[in-house]
Amino acid sequence: MLKWTRAHRIAAKFIRYASEQPLRLISKTLPSLEVGSCWTCYPVTIEALWSASDRKSERDSRRCLAMANKKELRVYNSMTQQKEVFRPAGEGKVGMYVCGVTAYDFSHLGHGRAAVAFDVLYRYLLHLGYEVIYVRNFTDVDDKIIRRANETGENPLDLSNRFCQEYLTDMADLQCLPPTHQPRVSDHMEQIKDMITQIIDNDCGYVVDGDVFFAVDKISNYGCLSGQKLENQRAGERVAVDSRKRNPADFALWKAAKPGEPSWESSWGLGRPGWHIECSAMSAHYLSFKFDIHGGGIDLIFPHHENEIAQSRAACQESCVSHWMHNGHVTNNNEKMSKSLGNFFTIRQITERYHPLALRHFLISAHYRSPLNYSVLQLESASEAVYYIYQTLQDCEDTLSSFREATPSEGTEPKGKTVRVLPDADKCIKGLRKDFHDKMVDDLNTSHVLTDSAAVERQGIDQG
Ligand SMILES: [Zn+2]
Repeated sequence: MLKWTRAHRIAAKFIRYASEQPLRLISKTLPSLEVGSCWTCYPVTIEALWSASDRKSERDSRRCLAMANKKELRVYNSMTQQKEVFRPAGEGKVGMYVCGVTAYDFSHLGHGRAAVAFDVLYRYLLHLGYEVIYVRNFTDVDDKIIRRANETGENPLDLSNRFCQEYLTDMADLQCLPPTHQPRVSDHMEQIKDMITQIIDNDCGYVVDGDVFFAVDKISNYGCLSGQKLENQRAGERVAVDSRKRNPADFALWKAAKPGEPSWESSWGLGRPGWHIECSAMSAHYLSFKFDIHGGGIDLIFPHHENEIAQSRAACQESCVSHWMHNGHVTNNNEKMSKSLGNFFTIRQITERYHPLALRHFLISAHYRSPLNYSVLQLESASEAVYYIYQTLQDCEDTLSSFREATPSEGTEPKGKTVRVLPDADKCIKGLRKDFHDKMVDDLNTSHVLTDSAAVERQGIDQG
């Protein structure tokens, strides 16, 4: 039977918040997700029991957990459009670059989804024992930032710095681990200019009046990621084509300075980088021209990632990303949630009403590649799910605490050995663990993991 007084106590802490509650204060009272915990309930039902029974073997087998299950991690590669076995180039090491946000406003649910999707991947790779260099950039020099700064009368770099900080606050709330590097464009002008120079030297870029354009015709496999054919691109239909471009599909690597805009010295005159070049330059700087995973939202496939591939190959022929991974949109009434349609919610708007872990739960409730439709009902049920999870955690804690109290003090046997796990429970835990890995190695199927573990928790609570 459920003990309602305790349930209410947990509910008051973890479930949905009245707006007057000091959210950040309360969120600190939540146990943090451990590195290996790929989704919210992981530390609860499985890890809590695991830690009691099996700490040593867990440590030993981490690297080959998936292999031990006789399955290797498979991820969907947008380049080949199929699931592939994930094999990093370096033994035990992974280089991963994910496109971050353009910092000129609060981030919306779409940004939250990308961040959480790749956080799940990052945590899972770490859990499998890989050393991961995870790079996620901030675009802090961009037309949108300049436009917004002109409206508010702020310095563009100050404005973008402010929203970079707000983004980091959101990421901490969503319990996304900080990437290894979070480079900003304004700090990497030298790398960007060097790459543009290489592209020009290799005859794939040209200078016109202080602007530098990329010549798409010079790249034989332009369109290899998106399937876009050059002859089908009709850049001129919607936007007036810059007549100085040799091909309408050519894009800016460097933009000559306009009055009132932030600008940097270069051999082509004062100016600033175009959007795409930053990711080619910063990924090469932190991960070299060859690395394992490049990720981002599905809307970045074209033109952003296509142009990145073209630029990187133009600068270095051997450049290669092994796996391109893209997460799906968040939709509202089945329309893409976007700034331009005005149908979006910021992460902050949601976390004012729901616990950030409820939002995290919602964001991984669908497979990362599927569209995820926003609805109040979904968030309510995510809240409930998180509530059940923490209730289960409390149950585990209550059960295990009596064993802990009986544990001999320092210098004696390790704590875990005093807990005798019944054969049935042991079998159940191992089964859960295997199930979890079976689903995660199948292109990170968090949605199945959550559905099944929720059933297990509910069962536990009903019996409890
Ligand atoms: Zn990018």
